[in-house]
Amino acid sequence: MLNIESLFNRDKEQIDFDMSENVGHISLHQEKYELLSPMHLVGKVVRAGKNYIIKADVDFVYKTNCSRCLCDVEVPINYSLDAYLMRENYDEADFEDSDVFLLDGMQVNLTDIVNSTLSYNIPLRVLCNDDCKGICSGCGVDLNTQICMCEDSIEVDDIDPRFAKLKELLK
Ligand SMILES: [Zn+2]
Ligand SMILES: [Zn+2]
Repeated sequence: MLNIESLFNRDKEQIDFDMSENVGHISLHQEKYELLSPMHLVGKVVRAGKNYIIKADVDFVYKTNCSRCLCDVEVPINYSLDAYLMRENYDEADFEDSDVFLLDGMQVNLTDIVNSTLSYNIPLRVLCNDDCKGICSGCGVDLNTQICMCEDSIEVDDIDPRFAKLKELLK
């Protein structure tokens, strides 16, 4: 939580902050992901007429699964957010390309703001390694560490779309 009373009172023109919060996990697309670091935010809130603008650099590390082999992957995230903080109701149509948050009193909930900007700053698909071979759809072995025992009986197309492409090229 960031208190912006001094901006409201016009004691200050800008509030700088640098804070780390142990939020434990983040929620995204109905899934929970464990955070392996505190959520770190560095930035400022400045006055913009009757309202405010918040700019912040967000960084943290979270744990997810490789999209191919499902092993744990640590993903460092670092992005900038830039949003309006409004003191009164606003017309969303005026802010089509921006993030806008309605202020509730003098407290800015930084964690809420970060949560609502996660979906377009976190990759949908993460690989443990660009060359990850994935899991055999026939026998279920991790092809990075084990040898598939069902090579002959499984259609190559069933295993991985990349191999299907390769097969096309070889025709
Ligand atoms: Zn993998
Ligand atoms: Zn197999």
